[in-house]
Amino acid sequence: MKRKSWLWLLILASIVLVIKRDPQIIPRVETEIRQATIRVQPYVYSLGDSINRKINGTTKTANDKQVGKVATPVESPLKNVTTSNTYYFHFKKDVPQSVRDVFTNAVNAYNDTGIVRLIPGTAQPNQNGITFFVYHKKIQNIASNTVELGNGGPSALTINHYAINSAQAGLNITYPNLSVKNSVALHELGHALGLAHSSYTNSVMYPVDQGVSTLSTADLNGLRNIYK
Ligand SMILES: [Zn+2]
Repeated sequence: MKRKSWLWLLILASIVLVIKRDPQIIPRVETEIRQATIRVQPYVYSLGDSINRKINGTTKTANDKQVGKVATPVESPLKNVTTSNTYYFHFKKDVPQSVRDVFTNAVNAYNDTGIVRLIPGTAQPNQNGITFFVYHKKIQNIASNTVELGNGGPSALTINHYAINSAQAGLNITYPNLSVKNSVALHELGHALGLAHSSYTNSVMYPVDQGVSTLSTADLNGLRNIYK
């Protein structure tokens, strides 16, 4: 008996020793969890009429299941979890003023819903945060008839069904005339807040830009489903 308890003590001591010697071990695990649940999807602009192929990489037909009639769907990292409705947002240094302006309009639109609260500032590790960024990406395949306008999404660290969302939303400024728009900013911020794609063209979450710059009733219902 005594021998066994000594053994346990030894195991415990070596665990403590490992953590003490390498305090990075805990943040490293955290990073892995965060990366595992990250979800970003490109938002596109149609150069032709064969755009529907682009939706989730599948062929869209009349038989495809429509999603989002009553409530815009929720991205998987924020499904069936509780999270705070308060976010701290900031812009990366290289974000031009024109992009800051459209994202600020989007922030105001989401704040006006009363469902979420987006505050300028940097999130603490236990708070929800959004980083706005810009990037450059050229059309890779001209035959696809699409231009990527932006991407964004939540990245949730979940502990006991409580999620801390370190989200991001960005615009592709290789095509500023197409991407630096309120509709695109609303869409990418929608992803960051946990909204997924909708099949309905009046939703800001329709995967192809329709110039929609007002949140639909279904979009509001989707947000309420996340921040209940
Ligand atoms: Zn999207």
